[in-house]
Amino acid sequence: MKVLVINAGSSSLKYQLLDTANQQVLAKGLCERIGIDGKFTYKAPGKDTIDAVDAPMPTHSEAIQAVLDALVDKANGVIASMGEIDAVGHRVVHGGETFAGSVRIDGQVMAALEACIPLAPLHNPANITGIRACQAVLGPDVPQVAVFDTAFHQTMPPVAYTYPLPYEYYEKDKVRRYGFHGTSHKYVSQRAAAMLGKPLESLKLISCHLGNGSSVTAIDGGKSVDTSMGFTPLAGLPMGTRSGDLDAGILEYLMGRYNLDIREMLDILNKKSGVLGVSGVSSDFRDLGLAGEQGNRRAALAVDLFNYGVKKYIGAYAAAMGGVDAVIFTAGVGENSPEQRLAIASGLEFMGLKMDPEANNVRGKETVISTPDSKVKALLIPTNEELMIALDTAALA
Ligand code: ADP
Repeated sequence: MKVLVINAGSSSLKYQLLDTANQQVLAKGLCERIGIDGKFTYKAPGKDTIDAVDAPMPTHSEAIQAVLDALVDKANGVIASMGEIDAVGHRVVHGGETFAGSVRIDGQVMAALEACIPLAPLHNPANITGIRACQAVLGPDVPQVAVFDTAFHQTMPPVAYTYPLPYEYYEKDKVRRYGFHGTSHKYVSQRAAAMLGKPLESLKLISCHLGNGSSVTAIDGGKSVDTSMGFTPLAGLPMGTRSGDLDAGILEYLMGRYNLDIREMLDILNKKSGVLGVSGVSSDFRDLGLAGEQGNRRAALAVDLFNYGVKKYIGAYAAAMGGVDAVIFTAGVGENSPEQRLAIASGLEFMGLKMDPEANNVRGKETVISTPDSKVKALLIPTNEELMIALDTAALA
């Protein structure tokens, strides 16, 4: 089946056309600056690359049209006609408590997606716009599927998702832990079971998705039972620019001292904090590694603080599940930084996790990175959210 995977943001749209039969990417790319002017990027194996060329995109519809035109282009396209696209899979950030799995999109689903907008006011409207644009350009006969970042975590028990706030805020306002990166955590947990040659239902896994945004998930028997992100993706670990968890009392203190309103405060927590805020150097872990090597102590502190945060979640989730069979490292940092993986796992020998420094000296490829006698396995597993979306879409379409 040929599935077009769409990840629509407010002014950007990432796409991939995948063949689910052989799990190959036929073409992929990006539309940027939608609603401003428009830039188009397209890459397909063995074809000419289009790299950020000007293409007018007043709305997401023109962006989708540009994608389709490129896919069917005589010289550089990968399909003969639009009719070859069997289905479209959309990444949707927030499914609230309504969606515990992927769904085929119809009128009722669209209404439920609209109802989730207050939970993700920046992301969901863009996702909905992407769906509408595809419906307009491809017509009603091509099945469209929504795959949610939150769905995988809907198996969390109340003890993991309830905030210690007056209970009416949960009942009336749906304030609870939702968790994100679900598609990634689900994908790597399935790959971990395959790598270990054991049924997923029998495994206790801790999945560390460590990128620009980061989250750790406890996965017991294939189900998410706890995760570090919360009501919003601002919670949990310190990240590239996000603070992660902190004492809410700090907000009142800083807002009072610097006369900030809540918007300004949240802007600081979302965009100026995390490892960027601590280091004053960069949100990018590669820059921080280099700066640390050159003696920048705040850069080194920022990386240490992040690694320490991940280690604490591993310990907490091992306790929550009463054990752990494997720890999974994925996403930008998890896949590419042997140093940070070692630092995170150091000190966890007491619970049976022994890293193999030689096996760990690898990037971006499925590998067991613990020693053969390590009771708890450490696994490097590159994530593939687009493939997961395509497979879910194919199954539902
Ligand atoms: P996003 O959350 O934006 O999808 P990614 O999963 O792509 O993020 O991760 C981006 C992060 O991965 C950046 O901080 C980048 O520095 C880090 N990263 C990529 N390659 C390396 C590397 N070789 N060593 C350390 N960090 C890396």
